[in-house]
Amino acid sequence: MRASMLRWAGVGLGLVALASSVTPATAATTPSAARDPYFPRQGNAGYDVAHYGLTLRYDPGTRHLTARAAITATATTRLRAFHLDFRRTLRVSRVTVDGHGATFTQRGTHGHDLVVTPAAPVRKGDRFRTVVRYAGRPQAVTDPDGSIDGWVETEDGAFVVGEPQGAPTWFPCNDTPRDKARYDFRVTVPAGITAIANGELVGRIIRHGDWRTFRWHSGKPMATYLATVTTGVFRVRTGTTPGGILYYIATDPKVTAASRDVLRKVPAMTDYFVGLFGPYPFGSTGAVVDHAPKVGYALENQTKPLFDSPPDELTVSHELAHMWFGDSVTLKRWRDIWVNEGFAEFSAWMWSEHTGQKSAQAYFDRYYAKKADSWVFSPPPADPGGPADMFDGSVYERGAMTLQALRVKLGDDTFFPMLRAWYAAHTYGNVTVPEFTAFASAYAGRDLSAFFQTWLYDAGKPTTW
Ligand SMILES: [Zn+2]
Repeated sequence: MRASMLRWAGVGLGLVALASSVTPATAATTPSAARDPYFPRQGNAGYDVAHYGLTLRYDPGTRHLTARAAITATATTRLRAFHLDFRRTLRVSRVTVDGHGATFTQRGTHGHDLVVTPAAPVRKGDRFRTVVRYAGRPQAVTDPDGSIDGWVETEDGAFVVGEPQGAPTWFPCNDTPRDKARYDFRVTVPAGITAIANGELVGRIIRHGDWRTFRWHSGKPMATYLATVTTGVFRVRTGTTPGGILYYIATDPKVTAASRDVLRKVPAMTDYFVGLFGPYPFGSTGAVVDHAPKVGYALENQTKPLFDSPPDELTVSHELAHMWFGDSVTLKRWRDIWVNEGFAEFSAWMWSEHTGQKSAQAYFDRYYAKKADSWVFSPPPADPGGPADMFDGSVYERGAMTLQALRVKLGDDTFFPMLRAWYAAHTYGNVTVPEFTAFASAYAGRDLSAFFQTWLYDAGKPTTW
């Protein structure tokens, strides 16, 4: 994710005042092991999802969604009942488990859970398939920081971004970044509208009367918050990067001209990060630039970074770098957001340096020159304090400064191989900040704990390190 600089600088504080408090969860069927301290109502224990098959029909004219979600999972304990994260704004009409009708309620104690009771308990270790049929008008949610995510209606479709809690606004899921799965999407929209999801298009667009069906396959593990089905009028360009990676680039005609120059750099950016970090983790790269000004940020949807307006070069490179750091190597808990955002922002500085623009050290110097009470330094990147501050500018800029300071401390000959080793060791996995700091110390063969304490955890402006 990357928000506008204006918001980070405090101009958007009116939004922050709307921040809601987080209510602890109490459901007995959901062991505390699954609880995220920032979003305790997210995610469910007791099963591990392998695949989501999402069949959706959306009419931007009526805003009505009709859908069927087929969820293949393995029980990690005996399940008499289980939860799926799902907002009540969509009404469930029928649920089956392995083909048998199941009882269900959308009135669970979490407020936005679908609680399913199969006809017979699912045994530990069994793979089972849950099919949920539902319909309604999806609605975005307001996050603790005042921004919106989930299914955001646009003039001609929907802009779908799920970080950190928007996925259950449009499909029932285990909404924790730790339960990655593969996806197939089958999305039907009126002729003239394009439906864009993660992964690659499968076969041709199916024409039936005034409707078109787009099939997308996302074959690598993906966290729920990175799933998208974005719809609208789009101009599409496809091709292959010089390095051999497929790309899919779509723009709303309103912003095609304003996005053209920066989007031309997507293939080169992708290939550059392959050289810097290691093999591209997914089947394709790309970008989708929509006209959704009320969103106020861009998001690194897997294989399809999504921009609410024509982005600048720093933002495009930031979102593409997330394919490595964020999407492939994903945070385990939301308080570890630095492992996503600090790395993506530092990568954007590296692209700038690589192309002969401002160097990463120049970015560091510019931010370091700010006063000690600047937004750049607070809160500390690895301890933002709560969900209302997890996307604060300091997580990004002081977060990227941390990596640049580490680069200077270790030297390029150690620092970049260390980053590549970190990526290689955790491809498609989940990580925490302490796991990274321990990894860096071990790789460098020196104790870096004081350095990381200063840069990642201590309040205020770092002075000595
Ligand atoms: Zn980001």
